[in-house]
Amino acid sequence: MDFSNKVVLITGGAGEIGHAAARAFARCNATIVVVDRDSRGEAVAAEICAAGGEARFIAADVTRSQDVERYVNMTLDTYGVIDCFLNNAGIEGRVAPIAEYDEADFDAVMAVNVKGVFLGLRYVLPVMIRQRSGAIVNTSSTAGLKGASGLAPYIASKHAVLGLTRSAALEVSPHGVRVNAICPGPVDTRMIQSIETQLNIDDPLGARQRGEAAIPTRRYSTPDEVANVMLFLCSDLATNMAGSHVVIDGGRTA
Ligand code: NAD
Repeated sequence: MDFSNKVVLITGGAGEIGHAAARAFARCNATIVVVDRDSRGEAVAAEICAAGGEARFIAADVTRSQDVERYVNMTLDTYGVIDCFLNNAGIEGRVAPIAEYDEADFDAVMAVNVKGVFLGLRYVLPVMIRQRSGAIVNTSSTAGLKGASGLAPYIASKHAVLGLTRSAALEVSPHGVRVNAICPGPVDTRMIQSIETQLNIDDPLGARQRGEAAIPTRRYSTPDEVANVMLFLCSDLATNMAGSHVVIDGGRTA
């Protein structure tokens, strides 16, 4: 894979999947723009620069349209183009049954996982339509394909990401812009640990063991395995893929 002279914008780039993606694209010579509300994104950009790559960090909250407009404009001011966009920031929210779910917690999940993804598309798509080129990968989840007890807002938000992906692909594919999604099952990151702990506060390790036992490959995915699929979807190996989603779950939903 060669992403020389390509500019890759990654939201949630301070998180574990975003960090793995930043490293993977940088190894393929891409210029990386790390966007996150967490200042740990600075270290991700610094790591890429220390290895001889080109990267910068932009602190932004993906739920605020001013911030999204700013990260898009700062990227264009610095590098002139946006070739790839990993619309990846997300939160798991609280684990609780719908009958007990707090309205403010529901709004928080929707704000990041649905509005944040929408706003990313809203401001990046006009750039890519003007360029007549670009590849976008929205991070959905196997939570976008089926239900789960206790996780209804997260589940609903990831179903919405697939709806946004399909609609965007229909709108912009004729302009040379490809929009696809990934649906990882459990990935070994902070987020899955948080969900396991909330599901089973007394025995999070037991929750993990049961989760892994239910996967045909008997393990969670690694952030690098997710990043590899992002690379593929953005690459010239996937030039007629649009509006689709790729599942990375060790066969769990098979
Ligand atoms: P993570 O918590 O390590 O990373 C998420 C990142 O998003 C964090 O750096 C966080 O600061 C950032 N973020 C959250 N809200 C933000 C906001 N309002 N503005 C800017 N940045 C914000 O988790 P991860 O596992 O790396 O998750 C990345 C994506 O993958 C998420 O969309 C998640 O839903 C999805 N996903 C994760 C798993 C899993 O098991 N870990 C499985 C399927 C899908």
